Amino acid sequence: MKITEVRIHESLLPKQDKDWKFALAASGMSEGWVVGIHDDEGRIGYGYASTMSHYGAPHQGVKGALDRLTKILAGRDPRCIATLMDELDHVMVGNNQAKSGIDCALHDLQARRLGVPVCELFGGPATREFATLRILPIKSPADMAKNARMLANKGVKHFKIKIHGHVEEDVARVKAVRAEVGPDLHLTVDANQSYKSVKDAIRALTKMADYNIDLAEQPVPSNDLIGLKEVTRAAPMIVEADEAAYSLDQVMILVRERIVDAISLKISKLGGLRKTYAAAQICAAGGVRFRMGAHSGPMLLAAHGMQLAAALPGIWYANELSEFDGLAEDHWEGLRLDNGVLHLTDAPGCGVTPKSTAPMPRSK
Ligand SMILES: [Mg+2]
Repeated sequence: MKITEVRIHESLLPKQDKDWKFALAASGMSEGWVVGIHDDEGRIGYGYASTMSHYGAPHQGVKGALDRLTKILAGRDPRCIATLMDELDHVMVGNNQAKSGIDCALHDLQARRLGVPVCELFGGPATREFATLRILPIKSPADMAKNARMLANKGVKHFKIKIHGHVEEDVARVKAVRAEVGPDLHLTVDANQSYKSVKDAIRALTKMADYNIDLAEQPVPSNDLIGLKEVTRAAPMIVEADEAAYSLDQVMILVRERIVDAISLKISKLGGLRKTYAAAQICAAGGVRFRMGAHSGPMLLAAHGMQLAAALPGIWYANELSEFDGLAEDHWEGLRLDNGVLHLTDAPGCGVTPKSTAPMPRSK
């Protein structure tokens, strides 16, 4: 069996909210690249390489890495995923977003060849239904509350309030959302590193605890692990690393040093399904909680994230696997999202296929 061709398709998908904003950037578009790995029996495996500048991967940079890395794949046996991914790590350091697109495409191809869902390559499904957490992008407290109501009306029960490093304004956001959704729905916050002072972060999170916050994501800069540990010790809620957990090595440090209570795992950030599975095992071994963080992008990315989440029975909290629902258009179909719950499919591969209007070929 051989890889005959690798095609890279640009994926630029508008969001419904043109003013989508978080603490590090504003963007009304979801940007990335679709990797299609073709074999000599007419099958295609698909993966998505997301463009996330805050993890060091600008759009054209991801394309450059994909061009270089996928040259290695032509003529190779696609069943040898471990060998191929190990080789890519030797050829190029970092560039996890590009490697994740390739890793996911290889797993999709393997699973389609075997006629099984991707989760069966990782131990099979432990979970078939996923309560999903939705992001509330930064706006005025009143507008964030309005967005929360709209999502709650669609069945969403877990929300992530994006905040931007200003104690009083951020507390006002949390207060407004809690007042709107009532006491029973679940709230989290994500500062995306925006608290430059550990004391301000602790002050903000202590005040927010009055509104019952389940977890606080990445309050301080990703390189300030001492500060992150101080916040973890002082804050009343679970503190989770996201940007600080930008590689498998870094996950190891966060767990070994007990810097945080929890880690947000993302296949794009960690370099694909294999590395993310390994990161989850490191967390479990070290007594640190883990879940699948924001898989922001098309249904293709969420499909891979859900397949891995299905095989990780230790996930402690709602995953972020339905941001595709906030896109104005998507090139993929196959996932079922009902009343805020995403359902695992038994379709082969990652469970989604390109729509007939999508700019990429369909697999056999
Ligand atoms: Mg985050």
